[in-house]
Amino acid sequence: MTSSCRPSADDPAALSAALAGIVDRMCRDTDRGKVADYIPELACVDPRQFGLSICLCDGSQLNFGDAATPFSIQSVSKAFTLAVALGRFGEGLWRRVGREPSSNAFNSVVDLELEQGKPRNPFVNAGAIVVTDEIMAGRAPRDALAEILWFVRAAAGDNDIFIDESLARSEKVTGHRNWSLAHFLKSSGNLKHDCELSLGTYFHQCAIEMNCIQLARAGRFLAGLNAGDELVSSNHVRSINALMMTCGHYDGSGEFAYRVGFPGKSGVGGGIMAVVPGKASIAVWSPGLNRFGNSRLGTIALEELSLAAGWSVFSVD
Ligand code: GLN
Repeated sequence: MTSSCRPSADDPAALSAALAGIVDRMCRDTDRGKVADYIPELACVDPRQFGLSICLCDGSQLNFGDAATPFSIQSVSKAFTLAVALGRFGEGLWRRVGREPSSNAFNSVVDLELEQGKPRNPFVNAGAIVVTDEIMAGRAPRDALAEILWFVRAAAGDNDIFIDESLARSEKVTGHRNWSLAHFLKSSGNLKHDCELSLGTYFHQCAIEMNCIQLARAGRFLAGLNAGDELVSSNHVRSINALMMTCGHYDGSGEFAYRVGFPGKSGVGGGIMAVVPGKASIAVWSPGLNRFGNSRLGTIALEELSLAAGWSVFSVD
């Protein structure tokens, strides 16, 4: 396809038609991946659902399929907590967490041991627990959580966003892998609070519930679509996007960069928030996951969109 006949953000009608075709194909696909079953509440989500929403630079928003259905954002929340932590502590954050991709799963204990308790990046679970622990400095967990929720609501421009308490509580009971990561961090001197407090806050941030319409809006600051709004400095946006590109899909990040070509953050609830800098903020949701724990059909839809619109940041045409 030549660039002149591609649907572009300047031609919302062509883009909308291309997206309708993509969503239709995703809805009919029979290989939907496997829903996360290590969190009991996620195991019963219907894998036949598919939603997509996109915010464009002209201020318009297009919604498809189950875009209005709420889901658990899980690790997509890590992009928001990173923004909050960078805003509060700046570069000092990197004393406690690295900025390198990981070649093991998002909940790997091996990586943490090899790196002597300094998580490889803020998006693997151990790294996100440290970022949350940092945000909690000097205040009660509920105040840290309130700031995270405030940030997400402000980014989305929507106060109708809440935490699913029962999901957070169930992960606290069943999330043994995260408990082991927290205890290892504590034993390495890289957790300031009790495991119970840091993990409790982390599980609650993961249990934020949003739909694709809200999530696409919440990602606008990363795409530079809300001009004049200083929620996050442009330097921090650049940092977060770089980390989403290199680490946002864990050990599947190289594959995501190769196939999609723009930054994104996934969650085991099946959501992905992805941004095309200067052009679009996209949220896609399909609960079935691929082997890396990222939405199977969500990734395929973003790949098709990227090819159709020529949106890979690595494209030269
Ligand atoms: N709450 C989940 C966990 O900690 C988040 C993981 C994810 O979305 N990849 O295991």
